[in-house]
Amino acid sequence: MYKDDCIFCKIIKGEIPSAKVYEDEQTLIFKDIAPKAKVHLLAVPKTHFKLISEADDEGKKALFHTLSVIPEAARKNGCENGFRLVVNQGESAGQSVFHLHIHILGGESLPW
Ligand code: AMP
Repeated sequence: MYKDDCIFCKIIKGEIPSAKVYEDEQTLIFKDIAPKAKVHLLAVPKTHFKLISEADDEGKKALFHTLSVIPEAARKNGCENGFRLVVNQGESAGQSVFHLHIHILGGESLPW
């Protein structure tokens, strides 16, 4: 489920602090440390996998669950008027942490 050298696994295990806004058995949502919008959260399936294409059955379940809890978490954290989801897949797309995560951006009018 977890990978030893993964920073998001360490956050999930509580070994590295984070500003959590939501947590359940399958999902953790916390504030991005370098926000790119007024509200910038990261929604993370707890089980470790890098890419959507690499999700096993547990990963697929956790990913769908994570998507399903995002709207309420976003609404409660300043995204009442909408939000954008971004999932970088691979280094050339800008992925820098190789544990699948969904950026939640909002709290303002976003430029394309
Ligand atoms: P990506 O570039 O799509 O892999 O996104 C990784 C995101 O993780 C970036 O927006 C970083 O600012 C964010 N990040 C990295 N380390 C931390 C951390 N310790 N706590 C919160 N956010 C982090």
